[in-house]
Amino acid sequence: MSTVIILADFQADAATKTTAELATVGARMGDVCAVVLAPVGKGAALAATVSHGPISSIAIVESDAFATNGVAASADALAQVATAKGAAAVLVASHAFGKEVAARVAIALESGIITDAVDVSAEKVATQLVFGGSTTVHSEVTHGIPVITLRPNSVEPDLSASSAATETVAVTISDSAKKSVISSSQPPVKGGRPELTEASIVVSGGRGTNGDFAAVESFADTLGAAVGASRAATDAGWYPHSHQVGQTGKTVSPQLYVACGISGAIQHRAGMQTSKTIVVVNKDPEAPLFEICDFGVVGDLFAVLPQATTAVAAAKA
Ligand SMILES: Cc1cc2nc3c(=O)[nH]c(=O)nc-3n(C[C@H](O)[C@H](O)[C@H](O)COP(=O)(O)OP(=O)(O)OC[C@H]3O[C@@H](n4cnc5c(N)ncnc54)[C@H](O)[C@@H]3O)c2cc1C
Repeated sequence: MSTVIILADFQADAATKTTAELATVGARMGDVCAVVLAPVGKGAALAATVSHGPISSIAIVESDAFATNGVAASADALAQVATAKGAAAVLVASHAFGKEVAARVAIALESGIITDAVDVSAEKVATQLVFGGSTTVHSEVTHGIPVITLRPNSVEPDLSASSAATETVAVTISDSAKKSVISSSQPPVKGGRPELTEASIVVSGGRGTNGDFAAVESFADTLGAAVGASRAATDAGWYPHSHQVGQTGKTVSPQLYVACGISGAIQHRAGMQTSKTIVVVNKDPEAPLFEICDFGVVGDLFAVLPQATTAVAAAKA
């Protein structure tokens, strides 16, 4: 059976759900080998967190160049592992880092690349949503080893426990991959709420909040949800840009998405329309987001959300 390489995705030194999603899609095409790129001495600990999903083997590559030289070193190593394993495909998470790594890997392998796939079939045909999600495209790489980036939260991951065999793979990071050096970096500020793209519930606020996210945050906290925002809200400086959902923000696909005071512009829908259940709270019954919601509440969010918060808290008690 052919080998499909996935680049294991980590946050705070632990494999993310995205890793299991990549493995789930990869397993349709072959035996999944998860590549763990780690600082020297940390590979085994990181690999131990790659514990869910249909993963057949884990290849640990240790190098301090990953921290010092960033994407270039990561791509160099991943391309070398893909070549050594005779990979049938390479799957990487579709975030900023993953897409840059994937592009460099595609160049190194002289292969075609598909970015922002929301699904990939056993025949390596990728599905993408384009033009703000209004059009579905099916495409495949016709030259070389397909390199595909998969949007987090797009597929239901197989979260069964994995007991993959682990091996350490030696690579030599090329001089050209060491030409740029990361001189300083700052980890993102972490709040107490779940990470937006990982959360199973997201409560978002838009211009309708008029800059007051207190009701949105309270409701989110009762549900254990992440907080998102429309671009109108982030551009106004009401909420950090890192929480923006949409075409130029983050793509989320939670079990439940609650949009509060958001009209539903196509650019916002592009980032949330694959959510499993969509609830809209808007005082305008003609708001476009009502067209794609599962449940809608026509009302003032400052009246609706406190009541909903109290009801959820009472139901949990
Ligand atoms: C290239 C490009 C990229 C873009 N990328 C993004 C993106 O990534 N994400 C994104 O979100 N947008 C994006 N936009 C902007 C997008 O087009 C919209 O302008 C934006 O989504 C509107 O945000 P909003 O729904 O919060 O505001 P509005 O469209 O102004 O809607 C506010 C809504 O709140 C309702 N409301 C008002 N008061 C209340 C209340 N008290 N209670 C309940 N409801 C109330 C109103 O009825 C209205 O429906 C992009 C635009 C462009 C051109």
